[in-house]
Amino acid sequence: MSIVAASLSRIKASPTQGITALAMDLERQGRDIIALSAGEPDFDTPAHIRAAAVRAMDEGKTRYSAPAGIPELREAVCRKFKRENGLDYAPAQTIITSGGKQALYNALLASLDPGDEVIIPAPYWVSYPDMVLLGGGTPVFVETDPANGFRLPPEALEAAITPKTKWLILNNPGNPTGGVMGPDDLAALGAVLERHPHVWVLSDDIYEHIRYDGAAFATMAQATPSLIDRTLTMNGLSKTYCMTGWRIGFAAGPKPLIDAMVKLQSQSTSCACTISQWAGVAALDGDLSFIEKHNAVFQERRDLALSILNQSQGLHCAKPGGAFYLYVDCAGVIGKRTPEGKTLETDEDFVTWLLDREGVAAVHGSAFGMGPYFRISYALATDRLEEACTRIQRACGELS
Ligand code: PLP
Repeated sequence: MSIVAASLSRIKASPTQGITALAMDLERQGRDIIALSAGEPDFDTPAHIRAAAVRAMDEGKTRYSAPAGIPELREAVCRKFKRENGLDYAPAQTIITSGGKQALYNALLASLDPGDEVIIPAPYWVSYPDMVLLGGGTPVFVETDPANGFRLPPEALEAAITPKTKWLILNNPGNPTGGVMGPDDLAALGAVLERHPHVWVLSDDIYEHIRYDGAAFATMAQATPSLIDRTLTMNGLSKTYCMTGWRIGFAAGPKPLIDAMVKLQSQSTSCACTISQWAGVAALDGDLSFIEKHNAVFQERRDLALSILNQSQGLHCAKPGGAFYLYVDCAGVIGKRTPEGKTLETDEDFVTWLLDREGVAAVHGSAFGMGPYFRISYALATDRLEEACTRIQRACGELS
């Protein structure tokens, strides 16, 4: 008998973390590796946020907090939702979690029963389907069209809804595509959901502030206020505030759901790191001018990477309006032969060969539910990004 539970056999380890770990291993062996696989900003956490953590430690704020989080951060989360999204949440309708990932995990584990369906637009962030499976639910994928900026069309949503649908997960701006749905796109989806009162919406807004070219943002409860009683609005500090290692996420929604998520958290992690929570208060209430500066750098890198990749044989990528990813169509390299004599059958073959030949780590599109593509993150030093894209271009030129 296996020691591993049957439920674990239904899921896979995170491929993005797996490829990043492999890249780090190769680097330790002395290879010159450029990892474009991890989704984290290369900027330091802003100084005023770090100072708040030091202050918290010096003041002895180093013990457990209540499972739902310190009241000060829950209040700061309410102020954020009011100020930035026009949403009225009470502190009791919020939860602070160990990263955005745990907010999603808690929500799905706390709400899914066997047979419940969860609609996930594809391509999707790698963890959604596996979290749904762990919760005993069934992921239902709806493919989106690159020609339509990977937006979820209202008709496709309508067609995917069944009596068993419990959730629609929306991630906007999106990982892995960087696609942004505007307020009108969301309102059109909201109109469909208004006709199906049994369906809840999980709005993953973790890339809310990382947008370019004036792309407009709304979260679902803002675009369609009538859905507020069946929407979980989720966000976190990892991406915008360059705090991936601090592990702070948060969510707000109807109290019965939040209470269930808090109950689950009280029996798992107990609470998010208290020191990070105090830093979170400084992040949410503090000066946000660094965001614009970071976005200007990201935008420059996006354009640089796009220009090199779009000159590479067999690759194509449209310009996305948000996040810090490019989701590159690599249909043009599939079926080609490498100088070593191997035929590239899949996008996974391509990224494996790229890592081996050029030391560039990217993630295959099939991991995100749509191939043949690969995802790169451009949240790394501009000169390394340029070098990585030049290596990809060179590699493509060597295929026959
Ligand atoms: N949601 C999306 C779409 C993400 O890309 C990520 C991180 O990559 C998360 C949630 C989780 O973020 P965190 O690091 O705060 O757990």
